[in-house]
Amino acid sequence: MQLLDGTACSQQIRQEIALEVEAIVAAGKRPPHLAAVLVGDDGASQNYVGMKVRDCEEVGFGSTTVRMKASTTEAELLAKIDELNSNDAIDGFIVQLPLPSQINENNVILAIDPKKDVDGFCPENVGNLSLGLPTFVSATPNGIMELLRRYEIETEGKHCVVLGRSNIVGTPIAVLMSRNTNPGNATVTVAHSRTTNLKALCASADILIVAIGRTEFVTADMVKDGAVVIDVGQTRVPDNTRKSGFRNVGDVDFEQVKDKCSYITFVTGGVGPMTRASLLQNTLKAYQRR
Ligand code: NAP
Repeated sequence: MQLLDGTACSQQIRQEIALEVEAIVAAGKRPPHLAAVLVGDDGASQNYVGMKVRDCEEVGFGSTTVRMKASTTEAELLAKIDELNSNDAIDGFIVQLPLPSQINENNVILAIDPKKDVDGFCPENVGNLSLGLPTFVSATPNGIMELLRRYEIETEGKHCVVLGRSNIVGTPIAVLMSRNTNPGNATVTVAHSRTTNLKALCASADILIVAIGRTEFVTADMVKDGAVVIDVGQTRVPDNTRKSGFRNVGDVDFEQVKDKCSYITFVTGGVGPMTRASLLQNTLKAYQRR
């Protein structure tokens, strides 16, 4: 079994980006700039935005965090998005999800200028992804593809089972894995909560990508010998032994499954850091396109 080291891989990507930023600045131009909009005081969201800002600092990007109170109305948030859309100093921005219940997430996604949509969530970018046109691939699927690419994992002709069909992970990774690219060219099955015979289906996968948000759902009997297993799941569970009071648990029972796999990610240092690195790649791309 080989552990797919998302921390090391993402570090490599950050170094590559930092070199590009150095060259940009040396040429007398301003560096790329990412803005993050944070609505409310959800602990996990604050944490994620904080990490994204630190990532920007590390590679030499500028960054802006826009903090809005939990009672922000949809109209107020849409007005802020308008401002960011027309602010020439900002190359790309994200609105950290989830949003408070009074705000319709779809309306927010629709309001973001596709050229600044570095999360790759808006219809134009999702459509371009489906058509294989230049786009911002959303961060988590992009990070998974990058991990497969950098470890030179053979995907062509393999059976890839994607567990979960969310708009941000399951659906786009299924599209990417089935495209005529490398990595890609896999035969993809998408499974979800209504799929019957899930265990047997997962056990038939050469590549199993799991994004369902159910702790340690995938057990040894669901994994084929020699399979590649990518665990996207990240659920916070209370843990009094930790300073934070919680730990992240993946969708795969790592201890049970690891010895059956050729490659596997762990909940920590796996897909998460690759997701963060992808956001930086998209921000650089947004800058270069302008
Ligand atoms: P989501 O929107 O929560 O949707 C979950 C998907 O899993 C749905 O398609 C659902 O099926 C399916 N599902 C739920 N229970 C199932 C079951 N028992 N059997 C089969 N399918 C089941 O998904 P998400 O936003 O993609 O998040 C999934 C997990 O990935 C979460 O733990 C999240 O925190 C994590 N995540 C991690 C990163 C990272 O960077 N590491 C990034 C994004 C997400 P239905 O459609 O039928 O309801």
